[in-house]
Amino acid sequence: MPSGRISNRVASIAPSATLAVTNKANQLRAAGEPVVGFGAGEPDFPTPDYIVEAAVEACRDPKNHRYTPAGGLPELKAAIAVKTKRDSGYEVEPSQVVVTNGGKHAVYNALAGVVEAGDEVIIPTPFWTTYPEPVRLAGGIPVTVETTIESGFRVSVEQLEAARNDKTKALIFVSPSNPSGAVYDRAEVEAIGQWAAEHGVWVLTDEIYEHLVYDDNEFHSMPTLVPEVRDTCVVLNGVAKTYAMTGWRVGWTIAPVDLTKALTSLQSHQTSNVANVSQRAALAAVTGDLSAVDMMRAAFDRRRLTMYNMLTAMDGVEVLLPQGAFYAFPSMEGLIGRRIGSTEITSTLDVAAVALEEAKVAFVPGEAFGSPGYARFSFALGDDDLGAGLTRLGDLLATAR
Ligand code: PMP
Repeated sequence: MPSGRISNRVASIAPSATLAVTNKANQLRAAGEPVVGFGAGEPDFPTPDYIVEAAVEACRDPKNHRYTPAGGLPELKAAIAVKTKRDSGYEVEPSQVVVTNGGKHAVYNALAGVVEAGDEVIIPTPFWTTYPEPVRLAGGIPVTVETTIESGFRVSVEQLEAARNDKTKALIFVSPSNPSGAVYDRAEVEAIGQWAAEHGVWVLTDEIYEHLVYDDNEFHSMPTLVPEVRDTCVVLNGVAKTYAMTGWRVGWTIAPVDLTKALTSLQSHQTSNVANVSQRAALAAVTGDLSAVDMMRAAFDRRRLTMYNMLTAMDGVEVLLPQGAFYAFPSMEGLIGRRIGSTEITSTLDVAAVALEEAKVAFVPGEAFGSPGYARFSFALGDDDLGAGLTRLGDLLATAR
């Protein structure tokens, strides 16, 4: 018996809900609707000029018109090692780096590299919507562990230990977090790293928002704090968020040398090298200073406070002050069971649908992140739009009965 036209493995992949919300908002906007989109997971700033200039120059150099080593340009791998020491205090060799087509690709590579069929991978909720899919594609089983507004969306060692069994292969850890905006403190990162090392659980630690922390919150890199975890740890990072480079598609993994060799072989058959022009742009980014992200952080910080204050004032909405990244993750549980116009609110999917229809405001319901009852609002958009969109949402929610 031949199998179905489309493999079960691929047919079961859900479309990216965050991209779907952004696309829907863009479609409505193209049709002339004044939609404000809180769905986007990307800085609204252009890539800094010196990075763009490096790319223009790279375009003109024929050596960049050719294939280069699958695992990344040697000078970029070396620069990533230097940057990693500079920014997170973790000393690594270029032989531990694979340059990937964005952080998303790095997640796929890393999970393909460690997950065996039947292995379990612990993913705290709310999770970045992409994490479970590559686990399943690799034949693994995503095991979610719930965090809530009450625990500040931070998972505890006790919860992790309760989820662990002899099939547990890996933990996906992210701080600062998309979508919750939570940042784990030093003691928490240390405790989780020690737990993982003690039980031989691999950690995929996603550091893509390392430079976006606010107030006195601090980013801590797990392998820096817990050397014992280094042999079973993959750091995921990239230029997308720090340098407003989402469209350039450059990320990387930092992993033990044996895994890095295996991931380089994987990539050599899968994508070959990342576009050289993008790699040259990334080289200019990581060898340059951090003034661009300092400027963006100041803007995000201002918008974060506006968003927090406006969401807090809405009836039926409860929100924590985001500690990092550029997302607020309010609970909208208080609206469930009420009506807005003729719509009965039974879930955050209903709130999102009625908000788009009536207030022309797009945000991503928590269902996309494994946390029904919540919603994700990006504050990576212009101040005026942010204020106008939240005012319209507040006016709409005030009509809930
Ligand atoms: N990790 C997290 C937590 C993210 O939010 C994103 C972007 N949405 C990425 C990784 C990957 O970013 P990119 O593929 O654009 O480099």
